[in-house]
Amino acid sequence: MNQSSSDFHALVASLVGPPSEIGSFIGSELVTGSGAMLPLVDPATGQTLLQFADTDAGIVHAALGSCQAGQKQWAAFSAQRRGEALAQLGHLVRRDAEPLARLEAITSGKTIKAARAQVAAVAEIFRYYAGWTDKFLGNVIPVPGGQLNYTLREPLGVVLAITPWNSPIYLAAWNVAPALAMGNAVLLKPSELTPLTALALAKLAREAGLPSGTLNVVNGLGKTIGDAAIGNPITKKVVFVGSTQTGRAVNAAAAQRPISCLLELGGKSANIVFDDADLDAACRAAVVAACANTGQNCAAGSRLLVQHGVYDRFVESVGRAVADYRIGHPLDETADGGPINNRAQYERIQCMVAMGLDEGARLVTGGVTPPGGPGFFVRPTVLSHVNNTMRIAREEVFGPVVVAIPFDTEADAIAIANDSEFALAGAVWTRDVARAHRVAAQVNAGLLWINMYRDMHVATPFGGNDSSGYGRSSGAECLYEYTKTKSVWLPIAEGD
Ligand code: ADP
Repeated sequence: MNQSSSDFHALVASLVGPPSEIGSFIGSELVTGSGAMLPLVDPATGQTLLQFADTDAGIVHAALGSCQAGQKQWAAFSAQRRGEALAQLGHLVRRDAEPLARLEAITSGKTIKAARAQVAAVAEIFRYYAGWTDKFLGNVIPVPGGQLNYTLREPLGVVLAITPWNSPIYLAAWNVAPALAMGNAVLLKPSELTPLTALALAKLAREAGLPSGTLNVVNGLGKTIGDAAIGNPITKKVVFVGSTQTGRAVNAAAAQRPISCLLELGGKSANIVFDDADLDAACRAAVVAACANTGQNCAAGSRLLVQHGVYDRFVESVGRAVADYRIGHPLDETADGGPINNRAQYERIQCMVAMGLDEGARLVTGGVTPPGGPGFFVRPTVLSHVNNTMRIAREEVFGPVVVAIPFDTEADAIAIANDSEFALAGAVWTRDVARAHRVAAQVNAGLLWINMYRDMHVATPFGGNDSSGYGRSSGAECLYEYTKTKSVWLPIAEGD
């Protein structure tokens, strides 16, 4: 074992447990799987960091049984005590922020800067939902017949949360925290490509005082776990973040029970730049919109719609700025972006760029050829002269690739933006306030920025429409997703 490999194993041991015991986290313990060995690959080198055994349906059912027992204890806590435990979990995340960020950067490929920001956001997510445990109220409803009618908001029971590899601990917390705040237990299934920070989070949850089984983690391949967990009557809801294709399969499996889903799927968001916009600001934001997290981001501004009058000039400046975007090792403090998380995605991005060029797009910067050397590094790429019928304009790349599409009028911009199966996010850049609001109202998206791109906070609703999924996974709005409403009646009129 070389030095960096032994450092990595020491990091895993301190945050999760012995690397040889990596598997699932049930109750308070690591449980190793019995299936084929799955490699955990370093995106910066392509080398295997460690291996862990795939899980089986028996482990999934045991994890759900443990969640069911944990949920009973957790729901019996007072709302205030639940809030204190979640706030404590946020403190513990802050205490371990630096090692958690390192583990996240090394295994996901995101830069250490981005990993630190996301770990800080994880602490903020728990702080935010800790405050909601005693504030999500029922109603008293003025029914006509002399009765008292009120509503109770009850936990669902056990929620299954399936999360992807692009922002592992952040998306875990984003979906776990509101479910826990409402008194549910969660079975978390992280991507098999990034299993470790979810385990670290579950371990911290125990330290924070959440009862055993309140947050369990199963690690292994998606289909085995998905089929077993969605088919088990203990599971009362599925929250899925990932590709549209897998989301459809999850949705279909849940419909058999039936239980409800919350789906956060793909995107092909339109970043619309009018010729009267602050073009310098729009250019800086367009680069971040396309390249943040090396483009592995469902809300990426991957379609850049630019008004004809400024198209050539603007696309050229975006090309120059994207060429300056520094891709480097995840632990390089100065890198803007890291490698792609995994080989399959790395190869897919190259195929998609080649396909765009075949379809007639012109290369402004970047291209198909990787920069060379080990690891899954790609060149951030800008393609111009794209029209919205090309596959490169319609399919999600999930990499640092932006297509620049020209438009003439406001109506054209809206029509192009909405001509997509996806409807997650979007932005409009203009100095005309009325136009900004008109466009914001007409673009089909769950999230729309005006003269900015990418800011998000756990306090505001997030989610998409159409093939981008359904449901809203943050803010107060998502608390409805994690509760069931009971309407209670009793007669109170005098003389009854
Ligand atoms: P990607 O973003 O790599 O395309 P997916 O959407 O397939 O990934 O994966 C997102 C998450 O869904 C991962 O945790 C993965 O293991 C899981 N998953 C994959 N297939 C299934 C399935 N059939 N049922 C449930 N979960 C799945």
